[in-house]
Amino acid sequence: MSFKKIIGHDRQIEHLRNAMRNRRVAHAYLFLGKEGIGKKLVALNIAKALNCLRGDKEPCDECRSCLKIDHLHHPDVLLVEPHGQWIRIDQIRDLQRELSHRPYEGKRRICILTGGDRMRQEAANALLRILEEPPLHTVLILLAANVDLMLPTITSRCQRITFNPLPSEQIAEVVRSRLGLEREEAHILASLADGSLGKALQTDLDFVHRGRREIIGKIIDLPSYGPEQILGLAEEMAKGNDDLPMLLTMIHTWYRDLLSYKERGNGAQLINIDLSHDIHKVAPGTDTPSLIHRMEVIQGALWNLERNVNRQITLEAMLLDLARTRGLHGDTWS
Ligand SMILES: [Zn+2]
Repeated sequence: MSFKKIIGHDRQIEHLRNAMRNRRVAHAYLFLGKEGIGKKLVALNIAKALNCLRGDKEPCDECRSCLKIDHLHHPDVLLVEPHGQWIRIDQIRDLQRELSHRPYEGKRRICILTGGDRMRQEAANALLRILEEPPLHTVLILLAANVDLMLPTITSRCQRITFNPLPSEQIAEVVRSRLGLEREEAHILASLADGSLGKALQTDLDFVHRGRREIIGKIIDLPSYGPEQILGLAEEMAKGNDDLPMLLTMIHTWYRDLLSYKERGNGAQLINIDLSHDIHKVAPGTDTPSLIHRMEVIQGALWNLERNVNRQITLEAMLLDLARTRGLHGDTWS
């Protein structure tokens, strides 16, 4: 897949193309942006463009080098990804050893390190040593979602390129054509993907339909739950195999829909179009401040999950707050 086929990120790609044209490619980049947004695809295309046997700063997608990179079989394109949750120190040490050699067959060696924000102190320090003495003929590309989880001494040595979330309409259009979805289905999936096309394409559609209705059903009942039931639901969610951030996003869309319905007085902008009957029933008993508060509570929980705060504790606090808010702001729905 060449640059031309990447959806979105035009400005970022143009900046990198210019750098290649003007022979001003940095020795280290930091690509910042949400997971599944296309950072790795752009990084692989840089590897292809810099090593293409035919193209001039543009991958041809056909030569031996381009094909090898497409299949991740090129000896000079190194991909370092977290083992489980973290990038381990021995992965960085292996990389350091590898980088002491010259490229084997390519013009440039490209090292793509995903999860640049998922390194403990020891691994981060080892990476810092690589960045302090950048190896010749090598471009290091770190991919990360959260710059505040990285050492400033690492980020300051990289040229930073920020990738923005894709607009939901653009994602809906792509999933409609690639997955053959109906307009309504594509709209729901795109709204849950948080600006990430990769996430939208990988999400299990059954989870989007059945899983979403199930969790929203429980949230509708939440005000009638006792503390034990609430803690039980937190445990069920924490231990389940479902994509937890997406599950929380589903709950967020429910409150967002209630708010939209209340403010507009109609269901023209709903995400959960298939639940418009429930929204119509529940919305009159809610008040705007408590809906906004609940949406903020969910955003806080998502923030915690991104930073690896304990899942169960995060969910318990979130659900207790969502249930309790009713009393604070005078909601009457249940
Ligand atoms: Zn090529």
